[in-house]
Amino acid sequence: SWLYRSLHTSPRWAQEAAKTSGDPQSYEFQAETRMLLDIVAKSLYSEKEVFIRELISNASDAIEKARYLALQGTQMDSSEADMKIHITTDKYDKTFTIQDSGLGMTKEELIENLGTIARSGSKMFIKELQEAGTTDPQSIIGQFGVGFYSAFMVAEKVEVYSRSRLPNSVGFCWSSDGCGKYTIEECEGVEPGTKIVCHLKIADREYADEQTVKDVIKKYSSFISAPIEVNGEQA
Ligand code: ADP
Ligand code: MG
Repeated sequence: SWLYRSLHTSPRWAQEAAKTSGDPQSYEFQAETRMLLDIVAKSLYSEKEVFIRELISNASDAIEKARYLALQGTQMDSSEADMKIHITTDKYDKTFTIQDSGLGMTKEELIENLGTIARSGSKMFIKELQEAGTTDPQSIIGQFGVGFYSAFMVAEKVEVYSRSRLPNSVGFCWSSDGCGKYTIEECEGVEPGTKIVCHLKIADREYADEQTVKDVIKKYSSFISAPIEVNGEQA
């Protein structure tokens, strides 16, 4: 795995972050989020690969927002940002990792954006689900998409390393197995932007395969303007 990584990653963005506090704070997901995650994690939805589309679309949004805010003359510093989306796969660790140098998230934003359901699509999903009772969540996932939470279709644990581009921001690691709770811990060595590490379930380890990932990107992400690299090569 060490050899594989050193062959496939370039040092700047592959830098390892280190959790510094040794004391992760634990939080509970909002009730609606818990319900959504429960369904997503147990889902037999056949197009799990859409999680890649969702994470790429979030990375792309984050890059666009950083660019926009920089143009607005805010304190958002994007001058040295590399506007690429970096994906790395590691078959041995069974990980799928996506990194962007977009606007990043503060601790409060991690709590707000990843711990509660803000997006309208997911709200509709929950409403639909309550109305439909227990029948067929699969079709509802397909219909609405579940954004960031779709990572839990394939991952037994998701880690989000993020550092806001606002001045004097520190890095954090958000981590969850999707079962009701998540933790947030301060972290050193986090690049501005966001890196999401999906620790894949054994059954979904195919998403740690480079070719599989490249094929999925071709299928769904041609509309993304930021260049996408997989293991250091243009996808
Ligand atoms: P949506 O993209 O529809 O808003 P998601 O569930 O995909 O919903 O993402 C929830 C929120 O989490 C986003 O609106 C954004 O604020 C935040 N987020 C997710 N991924 C990233 C990222 N890579 N960089 C910055 N913020 C992100
Ligand atoms: Mg999204």
